[in-house]
Amino acid sequence: MSPDRYGDTAGVVPGRPEGRAVLRIRALEPYSSEFTSEQIGVIADIAEKYGSGIVHVTPRQTVEVPDIDNSSIGKIAELLGACGLSLGSTGRHMRNVIACSRWCLYNAVPVSDLARKLNSLHAGRVLPGKMDISLSGCDFSCVRSRTSDIGVIARADIELTDKECKKCSLCVKAPLGCQVDAINLSDGGLTIDRDRCVRCGFCSNICRPGTIEVRSRSFDVYVGGCGGIRPREAVFHKSLDSEEALVDELGRILDRYAEHGWEGARIGDVIEKKGTSFLEG
Ligand code: SF4
Ligand code: SF4
Ligand code: SF4
Repeated sequence: MSPDRYGDTAGVVPGRPEGRAVLRIRALEPYSSEFTSEQIGVIADIAEKYGSGIVHVTPRQTVEVPDIDNSSIGKIAELLGACGLSLGSTGRHMRNVIACSRWCLYNAVPVSDLARKLNSLHAGRVLPGKMDISLSGCDFSCVRSRTSDIGVIARADIELTDKECKKCSLCVKAPLGCQVDAINLSDGGLTIDRDRCVRCGFCSNICRPGTIEVRSRSFDVYVGGCGGIRPREAVFHKSLDSEEALVDELGRILDRYAEHGWEGARIGDVIEKKGTSFLEG
């Protein structure tokens, strides 16, 4: 295990008790947060044999195995590699790209495969500072897209069709319908307040007659957010209408950040100093 240019090794962090390491484990296939049962079994065996029988799931959807002797790390890396797992998602390396589960009913666009694609393209890349990318399937932003270095929120633009509204009112309110009171149903018919609408698409999911349908889907990109000791909300960057365009744009943002960032700077620090113009061009 060779140390990277910052003197740490990807996926290995000092732990307690002193002298024992914590290993952070990610899967590229399927992708971290969707480990296969075989992979879970291998992690469990490693925790039993080399650790203290405990594993911990991190906020960024990776698994940590604590209480590891440094002399075992090479052997453990081999065992992990044999079933598609690897050490990673620490330090100034590209962190695990996280996403909503693919089975959540509210996904305006399922984003799990996108996370897999981005992880495959960028896992292990060393950048000026920590880089979190979070993909939300709708405006609920369960994976905290607005406080990530790069956050993506999938959107569904809806339209009213000429199919007859049955006035069931299911689309009007939570839990299954509109969460932001953007739909008004009266004797005069159904109207959508476009200023309130957050383009989640919930109303189209619940409308059986097809009176409300999705017209188009897109991805809003936010940059510069973070949590931690000095939390910061990400700023809206741009909206993209295809997965391909999104993958290209995120790759470009990472390149620009690598070029303009300085050691230890998060992308939000670069934006604070230079504005967002460095992201273009
Ligand atoms: S952000 Fe939306 S799609 Fe993602 S888990 Fe939450 S409710 Fe589901
Ligand atoms: S798409 Fe707009 S109108 Fe429909 S449920 Fe979401 S916020 Fe409400
Ligand atoms: S869910 Fe569809 S049918 Fe029911 S009130 Fe809303 S638009 Fe009309």
